Amino acid sequence: MKYLEEQVAFGPRVPGSDAHQKTLAYITAALEESADRVTGRDFTLVSALTGDTTVCRNVIASFGPERKDRIFFAAHWDSRALADREGDGAKRMKPVPGANDGASGVAILLALAPLLAENPPPVGVDLLFLDGEDQGVPGDPATFCAGSQAMAAAASITGFRPAWGLVIDLVAGKRVKYYPEEHTVRLYPGLMNTVLDIVEKKLPGDVDRSR
Ligand SMILES: [Zn+2]
Repeated sequence: MKYLEEQVAFGPRVPGSDAHQKTLAYITAALEESADRVTGRDFTLVSALTGDTTVCRNVIASFGPERKDRIFFAAHWDSRALADREGDGAKRMKPVPGANDGASGVAILLALAPLLAENPPPVGVDLLFLDGEDQGVPGDPATFCAGSQAMAAAASITGFRPAWGLVIDLVAGKRVKYYPEEHTVRLYPGLMNTVLDIVEKKLPGDVDRSR
């Protein structure tokens, strides 16, 4: 919660904003204390929501960077420029605070970093802090997840070939419910079940496998 509150205190982390810059410095400084290697990869985002062109940055904290067998954990550190799902019309033109949506996943990853440093895992681990993920237009999936798309597009240059990854978001609600993720269910049903089994045993909140 401390990591979540510190991010929210910067204000909405909309690409191009002062809060966005401050959060980038905050995340990078925290990771440099524990990761074996911290790298950043910049890309240009033309926001489908606002039309603004900004420089975004994916931050990658690597543990055991020399290892070929790797997994990753990812979260997005940007927050949405417009609260377009807000019921109140006036609020719809404002940015979302991004406490649960964005900051919660980043907080988990920031908490994980020192634990990985203290307990070196048997595989290489990358923590991905993706930028520009939540600036898309509903109904147009290609306008979302710009940071993930930039990571994937650069994979032939960076050699990023993880065995699997876990994306963490929306995990700080009051009554958290965990659902199977549809693409994972289709492509890797065994992995999805393994993850939900662990969640059921170890985390507060409910697992709902009915959808
Ligand atoms: Zn999100």
